[in-house]
Amino acid sequence: MQNIKEYCKQKKIELANYIEDHKLNINMVVVQVGSNPASDRYVRNKMKDCEEVGIHTELNHYEDTIDPDEFYMVLRRLNESNITGYIVQLPLPKQLDENIVKSIISPSKDIDGFHPLSRTEPCTPLGIITYLEDQNYDFTDKNCIVIGRSNIVGRPMARMLLDRSANVTVLHSKTSSCAKSFFVSEADLVICAAGSRLVLTNNDFYNNSYEDYNRDAFIFDVGINFTEDGKMVGDCENVTVCGKTPVPGGCGLTTRLGVILNLIKLAEA
Ligand code: NAD
Repeated sequence: MQNIKEYCKQKKIELANYIEDHKLNINMVVVQVGSNPASDRYVRNKMKDCEEVGIHTELNHYEDTIDPDEFYMVLRRLNESNITGYIVQLPLPKQLDENIVKSIISPSKDIDGFHPLSRTEPCTPLGIITYLEDQNYDFTDKNCIVIGRSNIVGRPMARMLLDRSANVTVLHSKTSSCAKSFFVSEADLVICAAGSRLVLTNNDFYNNSYEDYNRDAFIFDVGINFTEDGKMVGDCENVTVCGKTPVPGGCGLTTRLGVILNLIKLAEA
């Protein structure tokens, strides 16, 4: 598999050329409420990538005390505006209901694929699939394990793999460690999006049938966790027996590509 940083660099050049050649005038708004260092960094990086490929970006920032009705009105106004699309950066403060927010975002402006009627796919699974397809990964009849069943990562990921004729198993917080090892030891591809440190270790890859590790598996480590001294790590930091994407510098980059791909789709719709 190609190094993700190199891949994303090349892909952005390709997308910048595409936007220029097709004379697409794309602009996006990021709506952020309050701030915390992690969200601030995600927002900055997403906007930087978009600017790099010729997408105009704007940050609309609101205090974390904003009244819900006022905030929902802000979103309705964005639905009516002439921007290509917008992102509501999560998490939101308690008084704002995430489900209401997701239902207000117009499908025609929905960069994150949050709305059930959106034609865009959530950016994280979209970025992962795009990377793998660009590596000519053949999904047909591959044993793909998705760990996590959230609406923005696990579930759409599983559906997108199924659409490509993979054999898909979804594991979650109620899956026993015995079942987890059973599936993972036979996996070709593992998408790990639990958001919990050490969800997978080398032991999970030990395959009793072959009395060896499943070294052919490839892990896409989506999870983001922080050690006590503030270092960012994934869900599978201790796995050494097979290939995996780094954290940081892996899934975060492909997710940002997903944002650009969705904006192009919205601009062309
Ligand atoms: P979520 O909390 O909504 O869902 C987590 C899922 O993992 C749940 O379905 C739960 O059942 C499952 N889970 C939790 N602990 C588990 C365990 N020990 N074993 C098996 N399954 C377990 O989170 P999410 O929004 O889906 O995100 C998942 C992780 O991916 C988080 O760490 C998040 O920060 C990260 N993430 C990274 C990116 C990126 O661009 N790098 C994008 C989205 C999410």
